[in-house]
Amino acid sequence: MNEQILNNINDIFSKKRNIVLIPHSSPDADALGSCLALYHFFIDNNNVNIISPNEYTDILNFLPGSEDVIVYENYKEKSENLFKDADVIFTLDFNSLGRARNLSSLITESSAKIIMIDHHENPDNYANIMISDSKMSSTCEMVYDFIYAVDNEKINNNIATCLYTGIVADTGSFRFPSTTSKTLKVGSELITYGVNITEIFEKLYNNFQFKRLKLLGLTINNFKKIDELPVLYTSISEQDQFINDFKKGDSEGFVNFGLSVSGILCSVLFIEKKDEGIIKISFRSKGDFKVNIFAARYFNGGGHKHASGGVSKLSLIETEKKFIVDIKQYIKENYE
Ligand code: 5GP
Ligand code: MN
Repeated sequence: MNEQILNNINDIFSKKRNIVLIPHSSPDADALGSCLALYHFFIDNNNVNIISPNEYTDILNFLPGSEDVIVYENYKEKSENLFKDADVIFTLDFNSLGRARNLSSLITESSAKIIMIDHHENPDNYANIMISDSKMSSTCEMVYDFIYAVDNEKINNNIATCLYTGIVADTGSFRFPSTTSKTLKVGSELITYGVNITEIFEKLYNNFQFKRLKLLGLTINNFKKIDELPVLYTSISEQDQFINDFKKGDSEGFVNFGLSVSGILCSVLFIEKKDEGIIKISFRSKGDFKVNIFAARYFNGGGHKHASGGVSKLSLIETEKKFIVDIKQYIKENYE
């Protein structure tokens, strides 16, 4: 963090503040881990609250402090009052207000100072202090740097557990190309605070219902290949979800299986969300194949080079048809 930003931050937190921490909607381990780490960091000397735009997977309930997270959809009035009184708002693991969904207008209308900490590309210009670096493995790695710079003596087991979990989740356990030697150093440093790495792995990846395994089988079975292209895609219909007691987070990681096939560079998962009237799409890729540009151009989305998301308002079948046309076009224009 540069000196001027650090001075600004030290200035802001030189007295007791009302702080609101916000993850992106349907927060994942990196988003929630970042919020909770800062929650534990600030709690001694400030009024601090985490407000999530909506519910998130039960899998993350093991994170220390998660019982204190306020879900906006369930506590609108309380959340709105906290926004009114806020001196500082942190937006964590997102960089465009749309990803805060129903909280975006509360953020723009607030008179609080806004601090962004995020690792996605092309940040929007809404924050007073912008800590944005798309080369970072995770927002949790950036929050570690933030905490280390502001007051490293406050790092404790709770903070370390939240940060380690977010880093593991966003780097695929220190495997993805965004993992640097510094990411591993941060991981190593966090372990010195007594983080139980085996327990975190068990809680994140081996803590599901039997039906979720069945849904994985079905999703893998549904994979289709597009002739001549290094692309696989699959889908989960509303009925598949109903039969298998689908819960938020159950499909996390499913899309990656497409990339386990030799020669495949892009894997895509379509999930039917009838209640929202959309198809949610996950894109994963490797090598030079950039899915964030594809997601932004054709499916109103974005994200990282190798992991992006988007949405479609067409039916599942029509979305798949459109996707096949679009991906052929995209590969022809960019990779042939
Ligand atoms: P997932 O496939 O796990 O839902 O999302 C993968 C990544 O894509 C996320 O970490 C986020 O960076 C990005 N992403 C997912 N959905 C959207 C979306 O609707 N819009 C944008 N801009 N990015 C998204
Ligand atoms: Mn992240």
